[in-house]
Amino acid sequence: MTELDAALKTLQEHGIKKTSQRVSILDYLIQNRIHPSADTIAQGLGMNLTTVYNTLEVLVSIDLVYVIDSSQDGKKHFDYFGHPHYHVVCRNCGKIVDGENIDMHEFPTLAREASHYLIEQSSLEFTGLCEDCQKLFGLTN
Ligand SMILES: [Zn+2]
Ligand SMILES: [Zn+2]
Repeated sequence: MTELDAALKTLQEHGIKKTSQRVSILDYLIQNRIHPSADTIAQGLGMNLTTVYNTLEVLVSIDLVYVIDSSQDGKKHFDYFGHPHYHVVCRNCGKIVDGENIDMHEFPTLAREASHYLIEQSSLEFTGLCEDCQKLFGLTN
């Protein structure tokens, strides 16, 4: 099964209709792991910005798409979140990289054990300086 098939299956499981906009945006996010803003997605797909926002809202509501509020450019960035992963954000240029080398499947269970809360969402984010910015600041050998 392709990543897109898996995403569409999740739509179906939530009883959400497979509209062409939803398919296009999911496909775009799966192909472009650049954590784009809604503007970038609208431009990339030649789609109306309002349609992009409305479509993203549905995808976010079922946790297929994850929102990153960037303090760098003040924009929301969107990310296909079919697999739990964490983010490493550069505090200087705002570049966001996915980290998949930590098994995060247990995290909600652990959080529930620690707090007895009903866990609904989780995120893990590291902030630092990317390689380019380390060079910029003369922090590499
Ligand atoms: Zn950077
Ligand atoms: Zn990500």
